[in-house]
Amino acid sequence: LFAQPCAFLKGVADLSGLPASDLPEIAFCGRSNVGKSSLVNALTGRKTLARTSNTPGRTQEINLFYLGPEGTPRLMLADLPGHGFARAPKAKVDAWTRLVNAYLKGRPPLRRVLLLVDSRHGLKAVDRTVMGMLDGAAVNYQVVLTKADKPASAAVQRVHEATRAALAEHVAAHPDVLVTSSETGAGLPDLRAALGEIALP
Ligand code: GDP
Repeated sequence: LFAQPCAFLKGVADLSGLPASDLPEIAFCGRSNVGKSSLVNALTGRKTLARTSNTPGRTQEINLFYLGPEGTPRLMLADLPGHGFARAPKAKVDAWTRLVNAYLKGRPPLRRVLLLVDSRHGLKAVDRTVMGMLDGAAVNYQVVLTKADKPASAAVQRVHEATRAALAEHVAAHPDVLVTSSETGAGLPDLRAALGEIALP
């Protein structure tokens, strides 16, 4: 699945731009600066895949990518715009919420959302808000801790435990929390395996 470079399909700013698709789809979301672009890049081995900038003011888009052999993709990857800008204007937050809610509720091939959380910070209020949206849309989701460059460290363990405990009250959450680092590659095989289970054979 990850041997071939994945191909950018398109960026969409509203639901009407989403192409019809039969491919199982997996979406990545997380607070701005959580390490989403780095993780997607590390997973796919493609450096310029996702733009690392999440410049405030830029149009928020969902970027779609094909994963798998050229011509016979096996999985669609949806890169959702980052949430929780510091000092984000209300209009921007509202636009984000509208776009993501519409996507979560109106995208039949969506199989799982990966909610990225910085392993050094744990769940923030805005993450819990997003988890509420995911529960409400009844979309299966899984928390992925990022930047766990020392996965055995006591701090990461604490955040891991606290995150797992917090998930118990969220109906749509996958009970397993993945612990990853784009820098060291830690946890990437597990993440690839999770994606491989969702992809077409
Ligand atoms: P995005 O805004 O969520 O797409 O985040 P980026 O991928 O652009 O990363 C944000 C910052 O975190 C950058 O300065 C990255 O170098 C850093 N970063 C990303 N992944 C890792 C990681 O695995 N370990 C460490 N230590 N830093 C990371």
